[in-house]
Amino acid sequence: MDGKALAEKVRGEVAKDVEELGSLGLATILVGDDPASDVYVSLKHKDANEVGMRLIDKRLPANTPEDDVLALVEELNADDGVDGLLVQTPLPDHLDEFTILSSVRPEKDVDGLTPQNAGLLYLGRNGHVGATPLGVMRLLTEYRVPTAGARAVVVGRSPIVGKPMALLLLQANATVTVCHSRTDDLARHTLDADILVAAVGVPGLITGDMVKAGSTVIDVGITRTDAGLVGDVDQSVAELAAYVTPVPGGVGPMTRAMLLASTVKAARYRRGLLPFP
Ligand code: NDP
Repeated sequence: MDGKALAEKVRGEVAKDVEELGSLGLATILVGDDPASDVYVSLKHKDANEVGMRLIDKRLPANTPEDDVLALVEELNADDGVDGLLVQTPLPDHLDEFTILSSVRPEKDVDGLTPQNAGLLYLGRNGHVGATPLGVMRLLTEYRVPTAGARAVVVGRSPIVGKPMALLLLQANATVTVCHSRTDDLARHTLDADILVAAVGVPGLITGDMVKAGSTVIDVGITRTDAGLVGDVDQSVAELAAYVTPVPGGVGPMTRAMLLASTVKAARYRRGLLPFP
């Protein structure tokens, strides 16, 4: 599956939406100087810039007190020039991630991490949903991979990838199994999967002998190694699977593109063009 090509298509759709909606703003808050987070935030800005969105780049020192971070979130919540707002994680240890992420106004919460958006997803009345699971669903749709009645296995249960992924697949009428670090005999589950989503961060965890012939394998994992970025899925899977997403060039570009699409959605919510559920 070519995530790069599909992401290009999504960006084209977003650029048209931006033209239609007029000025659109995406704000990011980065606390501290984690180099990986810095790269992610910079890429988000580059993408937003390319589709004509305005960027609001807020950076705070690592030792910023929680109240000051919350005050900045409040300021951006109230700012009419900000459609989408995200707080880059991980946050420094002294900050409570739940408190800070929960303080984002739900209509602007493009990462879908407020209790409101997470709850809406749980109830099947989606508001904002994280860009990575949205990107995976878009890949499945684009490549016409049937989900209704399919057996889907998600490896990983984080709030940002695994859990929302499982819920979206369930909404798409797949029969979903969620595996994690305490799962006994992982292969027993993965071998059954028509759709396998690996979102772990352990290079090569999923090998050819763990995958059903003709299945679709989505590799969300990204680990930085000396040889470059590697996913959770071993090369040997390509011989068996009908579809597999490469790393890089699969889910990564889709995540970036879907964040832009979510910012468009946020703008529609805020302008009353789309009712927030
Ligand atoms: P987390 O570390 O939050 O979650 C990892 C999950 O994998 C946990 O649920 C953990 O289980 C599970 N796990 C760990 N080891 C094993 C194992 N040996 N067998 C089965 N399950 C295991 O990571 P994220 O969800 O944030 O990200 C997952 C991966 O996806 C990372 O590599 C990350 O870099 C990448 N990523 C890629 C994105 C993209 O755009 N392509 C976007 C976001 C993330 P437990 O809950 O029991 O600890």
